[in-house]
Amino acid sequence: MIQKKRLVSGLAVAAIFLGSFTASAQDYRELHEQAIVVDTHNDVLISVLEGLRLEDDLRGKTHSDLARFKEGGVDVQIFSVWSDETYGKGKGFKYANRQIDSLYSIVERNPDKMMIARTPEDIRQAVEQNKLATMIGVEGGHMMESNLKYLEELHKRGTIYMTLTWNNSTPWATSAMDETSGKLPKNRKLGLTRFGKQVVRKMNELGMLVDLSHVGERTFWDAMATTTKPVLISHSCVHQFNPHFRNLKDDQIQAIAKNGGVIHLNFFSGFLDPDYDKRMNAFRTKHQTEVDSLRKEGKNSIQIYDWAMEHYPEEASQLRPPLSLLLDHLDHIVKLVGVDYVGLGSDFDGISSTPQQLDSVADMPVITRELLARGYSEEDIKKILGENFLRVLRANVGG
Ligand SMILES: [Zn+2]
Repeated sequence: MIQKKRLVSGLAVAAIFLGSFTASAQDYRELHEQAIVVDTHNDVLISVLEGLRLEDDLRGKTHSDLARFKEGGVDVQIFSVWSDETYGKGKGFKYANRQIDSLYSIVERNPDKMMIARTPEDIRQAVEQNKLATMIGVEGGHMMESNLKYLEELHKRGTIYMTLTWNNSTPWATSAMDETSGKLPKNRKLGLTRFGKQVVRKMNELGMLVDLSHVGERTFWDAMATTTKPVLISHSCVHQFNPHFRNLKDDQIQAIAKNGGVIHLNFFSGFLDPDYDKRMNAFRTKHQTEVDSLRKEGKNSIQIYDWAMEHYPEEASQLRPPLSLLLDHLDHIVKLVGVDYVGLGSDFDGISSTPQQLDSVADMPVITRELLARGYSEEDIKKILGENFLRVLRANVGG
């Protein structure tokens, strides 16, 4: 168990019991500060490879930088090592290593602010020393190039989880996108092949978390039948609210709870809100010429959103779902299986839109504020913010 600093004021606890509690700014910030805050998915390494430096002020360019991780009270950040399907044989593993190199050099340049972490004990030390516990997650089984030696290498370099697929299937596991698109070759077996099951067993043996975000349902059930350790869902949402192929159905959520795993919720508007795409498409059609020319100038989605806010503030503010929708997804999991199986996996810097009030990693405390407002106890909030993840990490790596 990892304890941080002192407990929140007894007054706040009493107020929750009285049922008339409105969290004051200080109370929620204090609780957020004490809790171990874990985010299991952030894609900012892609921007780092393009030349940005995390120690710089990247506001207006990215969702994340070192100062904003601090401001957001993030204690543990798992950085995603990602490539698309064009990085196949001969390329994927090399590219993954380049990204891991880039993360190591950020940590080397900022030894007073960051520390590579692999275990609960590493996290405890990082928190004690007031440093960001920096972890590595590989997004997409294609980067191990169907080679168990490469999987071992990735683990040696500190990789703590691997999603079995990204949107593309691997030769040994079918993805959610492919399983639902109907575009796979007719003779392709869905789910995990015999080698795919070996990969899962090898990950269990190494103490690498099996991450089932992005996999298809058939792969999901095969992996659940194969793993001997609790699984991680690093960045997905709830199908009940939005029947998107990336979201989890209730029977999957129940199976994850039974396995002792944890689901970390993605902040992407398009996964949270079934109407987001419609609103976005209508906005794009209406302002097509302007949006096209901004794209041609090389503006990214964050910059285009800023432009829209400046020129069409009323329309732009309506594009994003309310923050309460993220909390609704979270409540659903809690009501279905309990508070021990949910956490946060923002996908910041891998997504083009987030709910209102969650503009960047600096805004993580607003989630704690909303959890308090919904009547969650301090103990439960700490589980959601990080302790559920620590339980699953411990079950996989020991410590
Ligand atoms: Zn992803």
